[in-house]
Amino acid sequence: MTPSPHRVVIIGSGPAGWTAAIYAARAQLEPVVYIGVPKQTPSIVLPGGQLMLTTEVENFPGFHHGIKGPDLMAECQKQAERFGTKVIPQDIVACDFSRWPFVLKTSKGEQVLAQSVILATGAIANWLGLPNEMRLAMIGGGVSACAVCDGALPIFRNKPVAVVGGGDSAMEEATYLTKFASEVTIIHRRDSFRASKIMQQRFMARPNARVLWNTKVIDVLGDEKVSGLALENTVTGGKSTMQVAGLFAAIGHTPATGFLKGAGVDVDEKGYVVLRTRSSATNIEGVFAAGDVADARYRQAITAAGMGCQAALDAEHWLAAHAEVDRESALATAESPLGTK
Ligand code: NAP
Repeated sequence: MTPSPHRVVIIGSGPAGWTAAIYAARAQLEPVVYIGVPKQTPSIVLPGGQLMLTTEVENFPGFHHGIKGPDLMAECQKQAERFGTKVIPQDIVACDFSRWPFVLKTSKGEQVLAQSVILATGAIANWLGLPNEMRLAMIGGGVSACAVCDGALPIFRNKPVAVVGGGDSAMEEATYLTKFASEVTIIHRRDSFRASKIMQQRFMARPNARVLWNTKVIDVLGDEKVSGLALENTVTGGKSTMQVAGLFAAIGHTPATGFLKGAGVDVDEKGYVVLRTRSSATNIEGVFAAGDVADARYRQAITAAGMGCQAALDAEHWLAAHAEVDRESALATAESPLGTK
């Protein structure tokens, strides 16, 4: 017998996914969250998303002492489950939005039917790929891909830190860090930034700002904590080291939208899901998106959570408007399109 379609399937388990689940569950939509499976390459990806690689979160309202990223995600999951959210530890690897109910394919090859879908798979911070980098990031040893999340932590206070990158994120993160660190050095592999002039000027105007041009980081030094960086000049090949207490990678993000290939969801040139103005709606009726998968700009846990709330409300309204659709007749047309395409 064909299983009944779920009212809402949420793909992704960061702040956007869990907030969508809390709202959808409280609206009695019996949401199902596909939280994904851990992956190691090319970047570490864990159920719970980027916060699983963050130590102390001090800017999420409601936790005046701060909360560890993984603890925050565990709390969100418990809150979603408390209202009846079903959690499935699998990836969704393909989507067919050309028929309704939608058909999703899991990493175990199973098919899932959904009346509405919320895409909340996030974006993965790009890392340099150095031997010591991920290890120190995982233990809170002073390597981070988010200065706004981690920059104010005591381990960076009044100490020299480095930011790698030459785009707007690098400028923004480095400028933010100048408030806490004794000196902030942007290390860039070329001799000019791609960042907007105004953001470059904002950083350069800080008394403790410094730039190392034509330089790449070839290793992160330190056992428990970052003690320095091994560097290479990209023009001369000359090697050097510098002492820092922290390394912030700001070399872009990659939205987790690979599983949408061929599904017809509009994405921009970088792969981010395109939303209709002031809504979580995508170009496909009944498919919504929330969080970093659709937001290259703010990328904060709290903004992702807010978008998750919007997506659940949008899905609820959309389902209400389509409630007259007969589940049984819709089921009759849902013949396994995935795998035959
Ligand atoms: P980005 O513009 O793609 O810049 C990435 C930077 O990282 C580039 O300078 C690049 O160097 C460098 N890079 C990439 N891979 C590297 C590697 N393996 N080793 C060393 N350096 C590497 O990314 P972004 O700065 O995150 O910005 C993404 C988008 O968000 C942009 O459209 C940006 O304007 C926007 N944004 C806006 C704001 C704002 O307006 N407040 C803030 C942040 C971001 P090369 O230059 O040599 O390629």
